[in-house]
Amino acid sequence: MANVRTATRPRTLAIDIGGSGLKMLLLGPLGEPLNDRLRRPTPESATPGAILAELSEMIALQPTFDRIAAGFPGVVDNGVTLTAANLHPDWIGFDLAGALHALTGKPTRLANDADVQGLAVIEGVGVELVLTLGTGLGSALYTDCRLVPNLEIAHHVFRKSRTYEEYLGNAARKRGGTAKWNERLAEALALLRRTFNFRHLYLGGGNTRKIRLELPEYVSIVPNVAGLIGGIRLWDSEAGAGPAPEADAGSAVQGALEAQ
Ligand code: BGC
Repeated sequence: MANVRTATRPRTLAIDIGGSGLKMLLLGPLGEPLNDRLRRPTPESATPGAILAELSEMIALQPTFDRIAAGFPGVVDNGVTLTAANLHPDWIGFDLAGALHALTGKPTRLANDADVQGLAVIEGVGVELVLTLGTGLGSALYTDCRLVPNLEIAHHVFRKSRTYEEYLGNAARKRGGTAKWNERLAEALALLRRTFNFRHLYLGGGNTRKIRLELPEYVSIVPNVAGLIGGIRLWDSEAGAGPAPEADAGSAVQGALEAQ
């Protein structure tokens, strides 16, 4: 069993479902990590059944928890997954929140993975954009802390009738090389700045390690664990990712991020 450092309630089991990895971390009431992150590779045939079987084994290794906050790499509406570009098509129309609840008996909240990640890192002031660079391209937009859910920049046209994800996803980076990928990233960042006029841009995801650009002061790189820690925010209000969080919860999340 994982090592629990404190024993405060409620304990939230944060789950991050990714195109290449499934991650879990137990969080205290303010989003502070209570154990070490657990990661397993995403099953190759990433059907709901295969992923839930893997998650079920991972959950069995966790200490007791009271509720679940999960991020999913696709459009999520009311606990149901509506798209899954980098997983199996059987996810379309799947009640994932219901399935996790059935599996554990715990109340479950679910949102898009990039939306969750951003909730851990934004300052809550003005327009803030989050992009995650991993298997797919995650995107999340906030204005004064309010989320525009399921932005999905990934599948909008970027250049030559191809989408942002077709240029900036991991498959494109592997195919064209990291240098080309960086050129495209620079172009995309400039275009997105003109499109959204964000005050700040946060870049997350495993491929931030591949960035070779000099980033302007309005762009920062955020740690991957934010994709789990941001889950605490899904429990801020009855409506899920809602209005501005309380200040003490905000600083606890920042503290948890800095400690990583
Ligand atoms: C999906 C997004 C997701 C992103 C990162 C994209 O392909 O459409 O919903 O946030 O990948 O996982």
